[in-house]
Amino acid sequence: MRKAIERSLAGATLAYLRRHGAARTLLMRAAARRGHALVLCYHRVAPIERADAAITPVAPDRFAEQMRALRSAGDIVPLGHLVSGAPGGDRPRFAVTFDDDDPCHVRYVLPILRDLGIPATFFLSGRALHGLGAYWWTLIERSVADVGLVETCRRVGRQASTLKELVHKCRMADAAPRLSPPDTASIMPPEEICALADAGMTIGFHTIHHAALPLLDDEQLGAALADGRQALADTAGSPIELFAYPYGRSDARTAAAVRKAGFGAAFTTRNGAMTCRTDPFLIGRWQPGSADATEFLAEAAVRLAVPSPLAAAPQKATPSSHPIRCPRAESAVGQVNPG
Ligand SMILES: [Zn+2]
Repeated sequence: MRKAIERSLAGATLAYLRRHGAARTLLMRAAARRGHALVLCYHRVAPIERADAAITPVAPDRFAEQMRALRSAGDIVPLGHLVSGAPGGDRPRFAVTFDDDDPCHVRYVLPILRDLGIPATFFLSGRALHGLGAYWWTLIERSVADVGLVETCRRVGRQASTLKELVHKCRMADAAPRLSPPDTASIMPPEEICALADAGMTIGFHTIHHAALPLLDDEQLGAALADGRQALADTAGSPIELFAYPYGRSDARTAAAVRKAGFGAAFTTRNGAMTCRTDPFLIGRWQPGSADATEFLAEAAVRLAVPSPLAAAPQKATPSSHPIRCPRAESAVGQVNPG
């Protein structure tokens, strides 16, 4: 019952914010003054060619519309500015990120970012640097296109009535099915990693094999965080300091391992704003999907106002050691109502 009421209230709030641009602005500016910032996460921006893709793409025109809307609502800054504690002002601050070695990043995203002058961070595996082809979900997608869903289900040993359900079942079981032949056409080649870096984009790390890190033992976890990081840095021409968890999945042990590996910050896919109280190794990101500009800004205002759940900094993290500075008002509020 309580969740139903909360959903109803959230729906009413969004409906109101869709209709009232001034209210969106007020809500965003109030959140910005409390030190909140919002990190966005995209996976695939590409023309929508089929309804049952493994990852539903955002159409390039819609992505451009969202970026223009975001730029009108606040400042889109490099992700490093948010984690370094660079002070903000009244205007809301946003950072834009992309996950995975998807060639669509260069084909469709980069021209839009360049055109609009927007900085972004790309969390890459660098799979092509190691002779590896597409991620497992792309192989499933290709297999379904080639031999059909029923045969693909038989090959991976799982039952599903849609491609999305099959991908979901494989992900939940962390079963990275080995389908052949390796698909090298669907993975970002080294020269495209260079193109992103040369365009001034930040390159972060996403692990080579894209395993769900909480499922790995300590030795495997250490290897996943180390293997391929230097090769990616060498290709990008700069150190790799930011990390995004594969599937957004993390826990206290994996966050501690990422910190120990020398990264500066790490990102999940938990919804909600980044605040001065956010653990820098469990920073949430919002995945906007294909919302139109009005819906997008209404949701962005709500996400910016509400901190990401389950991402409060551990008690031992003191304000002085935290990379995200607290405005005075936020510190005072935080004493009464943490999180
Ligand atoms: Zn990923």
